[in-house]
Order: sequence, then C-alpha cells, then structure tokens
Amino acid sequence: MNIKDTIEKSAKAKVIDTVAGYLEKDPEKNIEKIFSAIKKLTKDEHQIEQIEFVEDYYKNNPATNKFINEILTKTDSKCLKKFFVNFFANANWYAGPKRAKFMEEENTKIPFVMLISPSMRCPLHCVGCYASSYSKEDDIPPEEVERLIKEARDLGIYWIIVLGGEPFVNSYLLDLYEKYNDMMFTPFTSGVFINEEVADRLKKAGNVFPMLSAEGFEKDTDARRGEGAFKKVMHAMDLLHERGVLFGVSTAVTRTNINDVLSDEFTDMLIERGSKMSWYFLFMPVGAKPEFDLTLTAEQRVFLGQRSREIRKTKPYFTIDFFNDAPFVGGCIAGKYYFHVNSKEDVEPCIFSHFSTVNLKGRPLLDAFRDPFFKELRSRQPYNENMLRPCMMIDNTNVIREVCDATGAKPTDAGAEAMLHDEEFHEKLNQMADAFAPLAEKEWEEVFGKKGNDTFSRG
Ligand code: SF4
Repeated sequence: MNIKDTIEKSAKAKVIDTVAGYLEKDPEKNIEKIFSAIKKLTKDEHQIEQIEFVEDYYKNNPATNKFINEILTKTDSKCLKKFFVNFFANANWYAGPKRAKFMEEENTKIPFVMLISPSMRCPLHCVGCYASSYSKEDDIPPEEVERLIKEARDLGIYWIIVLGGEPFVNSYLLDLYEKYNDMMFTPFTSGVFINEEVADRLKKAGNVFPMLSAEGFEKDTDARRGEGAFKKVMHAMDLLHERGVLFGVSTAVTRTNINDVLSDEFTDMLIERGSKMSWYFLFMPVGAKPEFDLTLTAEQRVFLGQRSREIRKTKPYFTIDFFNDAPFVGGCIAGKYYFHVNSKEDVEPCIFSHFSTVNLKGRPLLDAFRDPFFKELRSRQPYNENMLRPCMMIDNTNVIREVCDATGAKPTDAGAEAMLHDEEFHEKLNQMADAFAPLAEKEWEEVFGKKGNDTFSRG
C-alpha cells in the first residue's frame, strides 16, 4: 500500500468511527451528520447519487423518514453499529479496493457476497421439498465451512448469506458468526430454531441479519410447511424484535400466494412484527423436480414489480424484488456480484442456476472466480438490453445452454440437466419468456425510460 492509500484508509477509518459513534448515541439527532459523513466515504459518483437519493427520500417522503427513524431508534445499538461497520464500511469501502485489485491485475472478478448451503437438512416437511431426506453425512464439514468463510474474507468478501436446508440446524454456525465479527451474515431461515437463547446470541453478536421465510397467512403456511410453522416463524420474529435485532422476511412468490403476500394486511403485519424488509423471489422452475404450475404469469410478474415499488414508497418498509429490481444492479449478477456454494461444494453462479465447473473440495475459492465459466457469464452480461429481462434461464433461454457448451459447465441437479437437454422443458421456458417480453418492454420504457445501472452492468 502506498502513502496515498494509507492516508486515504486512515481518513476513511476516522469517518467510519465518527459515524459509528453517532449510531451509538442519539442517531436520530445526528442523521444529517451521518449522511454527510457517509458521502465522504466514497468517490464513486453512482454511490453518491444513491446516498443522495435516500437522503432526499428521508427528508421528503414521510414513509422513508419513519422507516429510517424507527431503525435508528429501535434497533439494538450494537446491531446498528455492526450493520453499518460490517456491511457498509467493511464490505464496501474497505474491501472494495481489495476485490478491485484482482480485476485490475488479472481480469478476475471477486463477487460482493457469498451464498453457502452448509447443510441441506431441515426439520420441516414442506410440500415439494426434499430437504428432510438429507443426513448429517451430506453436510459440508464445519472446518471446511470456516475455511471458505476465511478465504472469502481474505479476498474481500464480507457478506455471507447462509442457506440450506435450515441454517440454524447447525449450532456451530453461531460460533462462526461470533468469531468472524467483522463480517455480516444473513441466514435464510424458517425460524423454527430461534428460541430465547439463540435470539440472545444473535443480539450479542450483532452481525447477523436473519431473513425469515413467510409465504402467506397461517392457513397457507401451515398447509405448505406443516402445522404450527406459521406460529413458530411469528414467534421468532417477536424474539428478534424484542431484542432490537435487525431482520427481514424472504418470500417465494407463486401464482397462488401473490395477492396475499403483497397485500396491505400481510405487509402491515410484518412491519408490526418488526421486520425491516421483504425480499421477493419469483418461484422458479428449477431444482430436483421443477414445477411450472406455481410460476407467475407474465402479468403477475409485472404486478410484483409495481406493487413492490409501491410498498417501498408508501410504507415504512424496504422491499427488494429480485427480478424487477434488476435494472438497479445492471441486470443479471450471477457469478459477478454473487455466487453459491452448494452442500456438495460445487460453485454455482447463482442460487437458481445449478451449473458448475469447480468443486471446492481441496481447492481454493479463488479458483472458481478464475475459471472461464464465470468469466464467460460476465462477458455476456447483460444478456438483454432490457434489464427487466435479465435471466439466462427464464428470459434469455439460450444463454445458459451456450455458456455451458462453451465452458464445459455441468448441471448439478436433474432440473438443470433438463434445462440443457430436454427440449420440451426448454420450450416451456421459451413460452414463459415470450409471454413476458412485450409486457417487460412496456415497463422498461414507461417506468425505467430504458435506462438501468450501466456501471454495475459492466462489472
Ligand atoms: S441467472 Fe437468473 S436467477 Fe440467477 S442471478 Fe441471473 S437473473 Fe437472477
């Protein structure tokens, strides 16, 4: 590191300390100072624009104002400070240059976030899910999970999303969250294992932002996940809320639950329970036994985007629609900003695309990013000028076939195999893509003015 870099780093550290101090004491009163300090931490014009956008919303939109003030005043001070330091400062401002170095020196893109499924085990027996049939022998060994977390951090990845299976089935993960206390962890969980003791540990660690699965009201949730599942997830929310731990809700949106999960009643209930955000995912025809009957119609997919933006604007709540918000991140981010390590340690470009060239048993994580598979994906992104049609599987259905052909990537499950070689399956994907295309063109023009985040898109 040269002198200029050192001075810059220590100036940043000073600003970060100042903001962390404000967050510990009277954050609400210091909000203007917080915004102005945060702006000093980045030179990236796009990031500054985004911060100014949020600041403007904070000042002029009552819902955003309430949302931010509630976070500042009701969150446990350690959780608030960790969220800022680990997620914003460490993952962005500190580790950004670290990741960028690989790009400059060897055209290797280090993603921003790692998704990992340490175990596919789960105590629930959800309809259409086979997680309950996995045993402990199918898990990634704990020391291997730790190795990957450590290697990720060394490369500049400070945000880890833990999937499964059920992440809390393995209590050693709590020890890892505590040990790697400069990183941010987001387990996606059914909430069944979150009891008083676990909630206390999450509060003490401060660096865990759980996302709880909620896919409808009691009747539908219990029908899908088993009796009592709804009450358990609500109880988990209460335990986290009481302690001021930040958490959100993840929802797989299907043809049948869409109206419920986007309703005012459901959203207001989540806000009341203390959730700070909802992350909506399209139900995808992927996995061991892909299903098309639950996928959204083209009209529903558009509605999901419209309604998500409406909730974000009018309620003290943040929403992310994984697909309809794609223009904000430049289209598909698979293998570029994020990737997934499955429970067999295959590295996949995203949680829905089950294809791989690299298995990490006995290999360093960096190998996956150096591999031609991820480089080829990145070189083709965005796959469509219309960033509302970002996907290499359900929107631009030939892309995944061509990339696998070119790089030798192999399917990691039966659904992915069908995507590559089953013509009937491929035809169904094409029909979905064709039905959505004209509606997406209209939204792209009317809502986004045909403009997405080109900087992110270039990677
Ligand atoms: S491949 Fe499809 S599902 Fe995966 S990140 Fe890209 S757009 Fe999303």
